[in-house]
Amino acid sequence: MGVSVVKQASPLTKYIFITGGVLSGLGKGLVTCSIGKALQVRGLNVSAVKCDPYINVDAGTMNPYIHGEVFVLDDGYEADMDLGTYERFLGIELTGINNITSGQVYEHVIRKEREGGYLGTCVQIIPHITDEIKHRLRHVAETTNADVLLIECGGTVGDFEGLPFLEAFRQMRMEEGRGNSLLVHVTLVPVLSAVGEPKTKPTQHSVKELRAIGLQPDLIVARVEGGPLNDDSKRKIALYCSVEERAVYSSLNVDPLYKLPMLLEEQGLGEVVCEYLGIDSEESDWSLWSEMVERFESPTETVRVAMCGKYAELADCYVSVNESLKHAGAKAGCHVDIVWIETEEFEEDPSCVASLSAYDGILVPGGFGHRGAEGKMLAIKYSREEDVPFLGICYGMQLAIVEMARNMLGMEDAHTTECDPDTTHPVIDLLPEQVEVEELGGTMRLGAHTAIVKPGSLANRLYGSTEIQERHRHRWEVNPDFWDRLEEAGIKFTGWSPDGRLKEVMERPDNYFFFATQFHPEFKSRPWDASPPYYGFIKACLDRKRGVSEPTF
Ligand code: GLN
Repeated sequence: MGVSVVKQASPLTKYIFITGGVLSGLGKGLVTCSIGKALQVRGLNVSAVKCDPYINVDAGTMNPYIHGEVFVLDDGYEADMDLGTYERFLGIELTGINNITSGQVYEHVIRKEREGGYLGTCVQIIPHITDEIKHRLRHVAETTNADVLLIECGGTVGDFEGLPFLEAFRQMRMEEGRGNSLLVHVTLVPVLSAVGEPKTKPTQHSVKELRAIGLQPDLIVARVEGGPLNDDSKRKIALYCSVEERAVYSSLNVDPLYKLPMLLEEQGLGEVVCEYLGIDSEESDWSLWSEMVERFESPTETVRVAMCGKYAELADCYVSVNESLKHAGAKAGCHVDIVWIETEEFEEDPSCVASLSAYDGILVPGGFGHRGAEGKMLAIKYSREEDVPFLGICYGMQLAIVEMARNMLGMEDAHTTECDPDTTHPVIDLLPEQVEVEELGGTMRLGAHTAIVKPGSLANRLYGSTEIQERHRHRWEVNPDFWDRLEEAGIKFTGWSPDGRLKEVMERPDNYFFFATQFHPEFKSRPWDASPPYYGFIKACLDRKRGVSEPTF
């Protein structure tokens, strides 16, 4: 077995590895961000990497109903949704290198082997796969110039497929030298209602599992329900897991999520991380962050938004849309109550559409395929006719156009060719460059593209600019053959690609607020800087509810 020499990143870079124990879904990504925030408020430059042990090359082909939202980065990479959490919390723009999957690593090593890159060698998980993982991690540290690189491993310790990543972490911890890396283990401490006492045994077992592969955690973050760990439980975890008592923290349910960094800071996490890493940091300055959190908590008014889609899509499928609505609420000064509406019910019984009268706004988010599409169009028609503020995102914009072509322009069979390839009115059609595309992974129109915005339009008012950059993920577009006729339905196209070939934004000035985008503005929304279309929508919902004759932005 060949032992390779791996080049080390800048000696200044420190690494923090984050693993999960007991079960998934503990909010490891949020803990990762909280540590990152604690370092940022001390003046350090951080970046974050998500290691995903699955064999998929990226998250683009995975079912979001099971795996959660596919988060699109500026460079068009279709990432695990944790990268969205990193961007929203840390205010950094990531690229494809910040998500390392087993698929990418194996694909690279196998291609290199075929090219003769390892001639004479038996190619193995150790060292070849682990070297490639380490190389990629150090490459991120170099490229981003991070003082501290946060590296989160997906899944749970003990998962078979995560082993090469954890082995790479073990090797890196040795190679980077003492004091240059930390291992943070995030676990669950359940409280059994019958006993009423927090149980630390699962945590002890998962640390035992880590030790068996040569990893010893430095910090333990326990996810607990109800209240923070008592001193007894902390002592127990410290004793059995060989960490200092002051390095055991409680992660609790918080709302908004943006409170978590401060909750962990109050327990001393930031100081301990810096001390362990030998970082002589500036004083921490949380003022901007806590002011931002306060904006989420202070409003007294609420607007109710009907998210029209399929129940199956709930929860994790639209994390960025949900967060963007909350960011917009914080800016507009209201809480946003998001209620999911199953549009297939409208198809079964169209009279149910009237139930939308209980909402201040209607949102049709991105989506694919024909299921629920007719019901989404019934919701759009309702919002147009009853003048309820409407926001359409990607598929939501495409279906708004189909709805108006059918109901205002008399094109009865109008459709997107995604649902009906034989329609005589293909108002939404495949992008020309998509016609020949056969592979499904990474082949949509993806990532940040510039759009030109019409001066004086609503889009222009919202963005305050005539040139914007937003992220995309689609194969279909508004068919140029119908542009003129669609304008007869009161549609104004107020954003387009710089070459004029693609319509990117539509609005309907006859309505109080009727706005839709071909792109996904939710990917760039930040808690301190709400996305303009989402803000416009929520502000319009609030103004209309308050009886203001025209929305003010
Ligand atoms: N299915 C549509 C398309 O591919 C919309 C995609 C989306 O909403 N992200 O164009």
